[in-house]
Amino acid sequence: MEHISIPRLTAKIPDEHAAYLFLEGLRWPEGTPVCPHCGNVGANYIRPRSAEGKARATRTGSLSQRRVWQCKACRKQFSAMTGTIFHGSKVPLRTWLLVVFEMCASKNGMAAREIERKYDVSPKTAWFMAHRIREAMKRRAPGMLVGTIVSDETYIGGDPRRMNRKTRERWEGGGGVEPVKVVPGESKLQKTAKTPVLSLVNAETGEVCSAVVPEVTGATLRKVIAEQVNVAASVLWTDEGSWYGAIGREFVAHETVNHSAEEYVNERGAGTNPVENYFGQLKRSLDGTHHRVSVEHLPRYLAEFDFRYSTRADSDSARVARLMGQVEGRRLSYKRVRGA
Ligand SMILES: [Zn+2]
Repeated sequence: MEHISIPRLTAKIPDEHAAYLFLEGLRWPEGTPVCPHCGNVGANYIRPRSAEGKARATRTGSLSQRRVWQCKACRKQFSAMTGTIFHGSKVPLRTWLLVVFEMCASKNGMAAREIERKYDVSPKTAWFMAHRIREAMKRRAPGMLVGTIVSDETYIGGDPRRMNRKTRERWEGGGGVEPVKVVPGESKLQKTAKTPVLSLVNAETGEVCSAVVPEVTGATLRKVIAEQVNVAASVLWTDEGSWYGAIGREFVAHETVNHSAEEYVNERGAGTNPVENYFGQLKRSLDGTHHRVSVEHLPRYLAEFDFRYSTRADSDSARVARLMGQVEGRRLSYKRVRGA
């Protein structure tokens, strides 16, 4: 893919028609549309009847520049948006593509408020767009990580007991990081607990996979690790957290560093620096860009940071292309986001 930047992309997709052509090029690089309904390769372009040849009248009578195809096999119609995270959205595809690019290219991500302001969409739409794009950034395959896996835990969220008065008031007023969902009858202390996050970094490839865990125990960590890592073909690096004992023995080898003795890299070169670097970036991003991340949506934010961090050696264009390869079959209804 050629190099792209926001000015270049803006120039490349001056209107909706161009945005469709651009998305078609990414989704069907061979130039032949693939039917999202039946998987058939090959479709006929439905030529708009309007004079300028770009816009077509929609059912509501307004003009649309949507490029529509008809499958040669099942005869159903589709566009490059069908079956993707963009499906059914009233937001222009051009806006979607620009937001996707910015979310892929900015190191700390993009706050919904920024999308709202820059692209003139409602707060609800901006928020929903960001979550749909995060959904596409999830690239989980069981046993995906294989190699030297560095594992560590961190805690996300504000702890009001440690805040100064001003920050605490803002936090209590809803301006801070939201705590775990409150169950009636739970104490205030439980309500304000931080959320444990486990991150696994592949020290060889730089890939990272993070997950929210209900609490840090051998069992909860093992569940995530066993799911995400090809354990029998990998080596584990951790600090001396006692909960790694059992899962550590399932790996080819388990190296530990003794943090309490201020050891950060052991004599064989193993250490937890790769995952600590990731936590640093994650916390800077959450503090700087997303001031209010609720626990229920935290997994999607983690997917976003994992995606960007895992692909940090890629160019922005390559990262966008990679994301575009993941937009299919990731539809997310507003109801599902809210009810997550
Ligand atoms: Zn078809």
